[in-house]
Amino acid sequence: MSLSTHAPSLAGRTIAYFSMEIALSPELPTYSGGLGMLAGDTLRSAADMAAPMVAISLAHRRGYFRQHLSDIGQQTESDVPWQPESLPSAGEVVTLTLNERKLMVRAWRYDVIGVTGHVIPVFLLDTDVEGNDPWDRRLTDHLYGGDSYYRLCQEAVLGLGGVALLNALGCKPEVHHMNEGHAALLALGLLEDQLDGAPLANATDADIEAVREHCVFTTHTPVPAGHDQFGVDQMYQVLGQDRATAIDRAGCLHNGLMNMTYIALRFSRYVNGVAMQHGKVSQKMFPGYKVHAITNGVHAGTWVSHHFQELFDAEIPGWRTDNQYLRSVYGIDPAQISACHLKNKQRLFDVVAKRTGHHFDPTVLTLGFARRVATYKRASLLLQDTARLVAIAEKIGGLQILFAGKAHPADGPGKGLIREVYEVADRLNSSLLRIHFLENYDWELGALLTQGVDVWVNTPRRPYEASGTSGMKAALNGVPSLSILDGWWIEGCAEGVTGWAIDDAETEQAEAASLYDKLENRIAPVYANPRAWARVQRHCIGMNGTFFNTHRMLAQYLGNAYFPPAPVLLAPPAGEPFRLHRRASDVPFSAAEISSTVN
Ligand SMILES: *Cc1c(COP(=O)(O)O)cnc(C)c1O
Repeated sequence: MSLSTHAPSLAGRTIAYFSMEIALSPELPTYSGGLGMLAGDTLRSAADMAAPMVAISLAHRRGYFRQHLSDIGQQTESDVPWQPESLPSAGEVVTLTLNERKLMVRAWRYDVIGVTGHVIPVFLLDTDVEGNDPWDRRLTDHLYGGDSYYRLCQEAVLGLGGVALLNALGCKPEVHHMNEGHAALLALGLLEDQLDGAPLANATDADIEAVREHCVFTTHTPVPAGHDQFGVDQMYQVLGQDRATAIDRAGCLHNGLMNMTYIALRFSRYVNGVAMQHGKVSQKMFPGYKVHAITNGVHAGTWVSHHFQELFDAEIPGWRTDNQYLRSVYGIDPAQISACHLKNKQRLFDVVAKRTGHHFDPTVLTLGFARRVATYKRASLLLQDTARLVAIAEKIGGLQILFAGKAHPADGPGKGLIREVYEVADRLNSSLLRIHFLENYDWELGALLTQGVDVWVNTPRRPYEASGTSGMKAALNGVPSLSILDGWWIEGCAEGVTGWAIDDAETEQAEAASLYDKLENRIAPVYANPRAWARVQRHCIGMNGTFFNTHRMLAQYLGNAYFPPAPVLLAPPAGEPFRLHRRASDVPFSAAEISSTVN
């Protein structure tokens, strides 16, 4: 990825990808976590695969936030200001009417450049334009900041502003992909185009159908708080009478609220969840709509460590353009894989020592747990039974655990979880058991951790982990997972081969007990046998790295969602394209319960 002053041609860009956050480079604070990483990895694969794509997001001039942790793990936050002006301008300013006043929106262009030089232009919308209302000028400052009113205005800028900008640039995509409901208002922009200036209240079913033909929607979470909704008064105030009436008439109010997910569902011809089980759970949540599933991936070229890149470039030269060649990892001596991993581990521990003064031992089994600190992710499950943990560490000759993660600034319980981990770490730390929570989980730390620990741990409360992608980054670096069978791990877990499953149980205590059992009786003995461990590492790459990548994922979007029937892949059969032998029937609550918790 680099910057070019020549604007890439927009002619023939048939796919427009809209996302509230996109992780474009480690230096730019335009993302918060998994959703933005997925968006960035999607575009990086699109660039590698020369897909005809263009993308829309917001500038986020002050970023998400930088996390600071006190001695007791109390989180505070600071802004991450950056200069979008350092990028080339899109050259167009579009004007929207929001809150009954004019709002000018400009954009900056970031070029994502693929392995063969193909460019995906990303337009970052910016309302900090002279002449705008002073409050409006701050609208594209804070990712997920402010109150619901601020959020609705941002989502209006993303959807309506994005469509207007593409129009101004003369770009007429066939497909508009809403990456999560935040982008759903793009459908209103398309409906306005469809009606060509006539009031939206005149829209017929045929007009809505015409818009649907051009929209694809990916939903990303079964967690209720992840589905944005706004009061009807707010909807009228921000969007104005005409648009608000159109949303109401199209049947997009849900439980008396404007619901971004329902707008996206109503206006999209293809809807999908982000892993097979998440597709099923979402289907139960939204029984009136057909919900498909395309399992997430990660961009291999981004997440594979430097040492593994060198090894793959030497042994599997085709891996960057076609990740499926990584299957040839079975031609590489497992000892070489282990040697690479050890370098990654040492590199991680060097950074840990430099940042914290704590010295971790590269010969000791090391677990990693890093993710957004939300209560359903249960960061403290690993620390449930501290006596057991200490006993295991003593029995197996030492154990090290690295934690990291940000809690949303407004998430009190999430922040409490970080303090809890600090408190336990303080109490337990010894020469045999080292536990440390690292500050400011971001792209760089995420890469170091997934490359450098020995086992990646994930302990969500079922069925709330839609996919999860950090374990996929780990797999590409030969790091097995120890996880609850939820999200991608239902598809990725081959027990004892690519990692280990924490057995399903009714209580947290029982799930923690399974975690400890696996650690003590299944994982530690393999770790103690370097040749056996190296074979596990190789299976992670050969079995999971070859599948859980965004090259495969994007090929599925191209074939199944954007341009069906598939030019290369077989069109999915009528009916269920997959059968889930795990989890299929035992989602732990009923459809009615799920849809009532959404709102
Ligand atoms: C990959 C990544 C995520 C998403 O990982 P999950 O497994 O979904 O939690 C979040 N944050 C960062 C910094 C990442 O690199």
